[in-house]
Amino acid sequence: MNKKGRIIILSGPSGAGKTTLHDLLLKSPEFRGRIVRSVSATTRKPRGTEKQGREYFFFSKKMFEHKIRTHQFLEWARVFDNYYGTPIKNVREILSRGRHVLLCIDVQGARLVRKKVPEAFLVFVKTPSLDELRRRLEKRGTDSKESISLRLKTARLELKDVSRYDCVIVNDELNRAFGELKQVLAKI
Ligand code: 5GP
Repeated sequence: MNKKGRIIILSGPSGAGKTTLHDLLLKSPEFRGRIVRSVSATTRKPRGTEKQGREYFFFSKKMFEHKIRTHQFLEWARVFDNYYGTPIKNVREILSRGRHVLLCIDVQGARLVRKKVPEAFLVFVKTPSLDELRRRLEKRGTDSKESISLRLKTARLELKDVSRYDCVIVNDELNRAFGELKQVLAKI
C-alpha cells in the first residue's frame, strides 16, 4: 500500500458544491485520519459563525501581502476582490506525517499548485450545466445579481481548465457525486 501523502485539490466554479463535498469527505469514516484539510488564509471578513483559524485564517491585506513577499504560500490568488492562499507550512507538516492534504481552492490556485507540484491530485467539481449553476447560486441566496453574473462569467472561463485535471465530478446529485469522489480517492 502506498503510504505517501499527496496534495488533493477540490476545485471548480463557485457554487458547484466543492465545499459541501470537502466537508463530507472530512467527516467520512473511510478517510478519517488519512485526509487532513488545509486551512486557507484570506483577506475577506468572517461570515456568520466563522472563526479565526477554523474556516480560515483571516488576515489584513497588509499581513497577507507580507506573507506573499516572504513566500509563505504554496499558492495564492485574488478571488472576487479578496486574497486567498494556502499556507505552505501546514501543507508540509501534514504531508510529512504521511497524510493526504485536502485543498478546496479556486481554479487559478489549482493551476499554480499543478505547476509547482505535478503529482498533486486535482479534482474538478462542476454542475451538469451553467444553467444549473445559475439556479444553485440563486437558491443559495448569498449573492447579489451582479455577483451571480460575475460568478457565471468566471465559471465559463474556469471550465476551460477541465482537461488539466485528473478527475471530473459532475455534481448532479450530491450522494451520487460523493460516492464517485470516494471511489476515486480510495485508489490514489
Ligand atoms: P469563500 O469566500 O466563499 O469561502 O471562497 C471563495 C472562493 O475562494 C472559493 O472558490 C474557494 O474555493 C476559494 N478559496 C478558498 N481558499 C482558497 C485558497 O487558499 N486559495 C485559492 N486559490 N482559492 C481559495
